[in-house]
Amino acid sequence: MSTMRILVAEDEITFRHMLKTFLTKWGYQVVVVSDGLEAWKILQEEDRPRLAILDWMMPSMDGVEICRAIRERKSDPYLYLLLLTSRDQKQDVVEGIEAGADDYLIKPFDPRELRARIHAGERIIELEDRLIRAQEALRELATHDSLTGLLNRRACLDSLLAELDRGRRAGNPVCIVMADIDHFKRVNDAHGHLIGDEVLCEVARRMQSSLRRYDTIGRFGGEEFLLVLPGCSLEEGVKLAERICHLVRSEPAKAQNKSIDVSISLGVAVANQPVPGDLEVLLGSADAALYRAKEAGRNRVEFSANLPSPSSGTPD
Ligand SMILES: [Mg+2]
Repeated sequence: MSTMRILVAEDEITFRHMLKTFLTKWGYQVVVVSDGLEAWKILQEEDRPRLAILDWMMPSMDGVEICRAIRERKSDPYLYLLLLTSRDQKQDVVEGIEAGADDYLIKPFDPRELRARIHAGERIIELEDRLIRAQEALRELATHDSLTGLLNRRACLDSLLAELDRGRRAGNPVCIVMADIDHFKRVNDAHGHLIGDEVLCEVARRMQSSLRRYDTIGRFGGEEFLLVLPGCSLEEGVKLAERICHLVRSEPAKAQNKSIDVSISLGVAVANQPVPGDLEVLLGSADAALYRAKEAGRNRVEFSANLPSPSSGTPD
């Protein structure tokens, strides 16, 4: 944390010099300006310092104005603001804190006090970083399947809803594919769940490698996957499903020195001009097509006829 960057905005040369000398000595990277507007500009930058020491009285924009302006716009990540003042009346300090300063220091100050206050700021920044990391980890856990790393059922339904919405606005079709590993129970029964899990991951990888950047794939259930293909017609969706079907079948999955033959069945359906509430219809059609693929002997693709379009029946 000691390579942290700190912005110093101070118009008096003696204090500016003193701050720079100490901060550098303590191992910080220091950005120094002598004017409030310059400080404000730097604090707008993408890679701005996380901690700023702002003098109260400065030309063009004072420290309190900067604090207020910073807090008015929600800033991510948090910017820790330390205000320098030569005034020592209580009213001034209250004004500074209310404007958004996290802490203040009265000039002239003892370097040890400066250092202690910077450390307090670093603790806040570190705490915020930990919170952000924890939130990201939680989001990952809440939206992804821990075995395959694909989206989980809920997240891929969310993604489907969002794509249907986008498709409706843009007038584009949304194709979906339900895929299910054939006789997966036999793999588990014959080789155990660890190998079963590896086979599942390998199938997931092969499917994922066939997708375009804006397609999504999720683990929908045990050995069932849902693919969402925005802007894809039924024909294109079926072609992609055929390709995936062949790829999965093309060579056995390797799991713990074993080669395991694996195949999948796929059901394709499309929403041409999705109307509200047709999520279940769409999923039901893909599921029915998948069922037919299983019935017809597995390792194949079946598709559902186009869903009714909301505009009166010009077939496409
Ligand atoms: Mg000043």
